[in-house]
Amino acid sequence: MTYVVGLTGGIGSGKTAVSDRFKALGITVVDADVASRVVVEPGRPALQLIAEHFGADILLADGQLNRAELRKRIFQDESERLWLEGLLHPLIRQEIMDGLNNASSPYALLVSPLLIESGQSKFTKRVLVVDVPEELQLSRTVARDNNSAEQVKAIMSAQASREQRLQHADDVIVNDGSLEQLHQKVQEQHEKYLSLAAEANDA
Ligand code: ATP
Repeated sequence: MTYVVGLTGGIGSGKTAVSDRFKALGITVVDADVASRVVVEPGRPALQLIAEHFGADILLADGQLNRAELRKRIFQDESERLWLEGLLHPLIRQEIMDGLNNASSPYALLVSPLLIESGQSKFTKRVLVVDVPEELQLSRTVARDNNSAEQVKAIMSAQASREQRLQHADDVIVNDGSLEQLHQKVQEQHEKYLSLAAEANDA
C-alpha cells in the first residue's frame, strides 16, 4: 500500500507551488480536481450516462461536457445534483485510488482543496496543510487571477476557515515567505515523509 500524504489549503494558499516542488523531488502527485475532470472526458462511461440522463444538449459540439449547462441544471434541481454526485463520486474515488496505487515513488501526494470536507483524507496517512495569512492569500490570488478582491474574499469565506483546516493538520507549511523559503520547507517535509514511509513499510 502506497504511503499517502494529503495536501490541502485555501484558494491561492500555494498548493500548486508546494505540489510542483514535491513533483520536482520525484514524488507522484495525484490531483483530486484533475481526477474529477478526467472521469467525464469523452470516451469515459460517465459522459455517456450524463448525456442519456440530461439529453444530448449537455454536450458541446466537440463532444465535451458542457460544464456551464450542467452547473445550471444541478443548481436548479437538487435531485439532479444528487443523481450526478451518486454517479461521479465513486468514479472520482476510483480514479484517485488508481493514481495513488500506481505511484512510482516511496510515498505519494494527494492534492485536494476539499481534502477534509470531502472525506478524501481517509485515503491518507497524514494531512499537510499549506497555511497562509489571509492578507497574503488575498493579494497573491488577486495578482494571479483576473478577479476582484471582493470575488476572492467571497470564495475564501465559502471555504473552510484556517482554524478548521489546521485542526486536521498533522503537518503545516506556512507559506508567508519567498518561494525559495517555501522550497526549503517542502524539502524538510519530504525528508520526514521518506522516513515515515520507510518505517511504515518495515512495520
Ligand atoms: P488554488 O486553490 O486557487 O488552485 P493554490 O493553493 O494552488 O491555489 P498557488 O497557485 O500555488 O495556490 O499559489 C497562488 C499564487 O501565489 C500563485 O500565483 C503562486 O505563484 C503565488 N505564490 C505561492 N507561493 C508563493 C510564495 N511563497 N511567494 C510568492 N508567490 C507565491
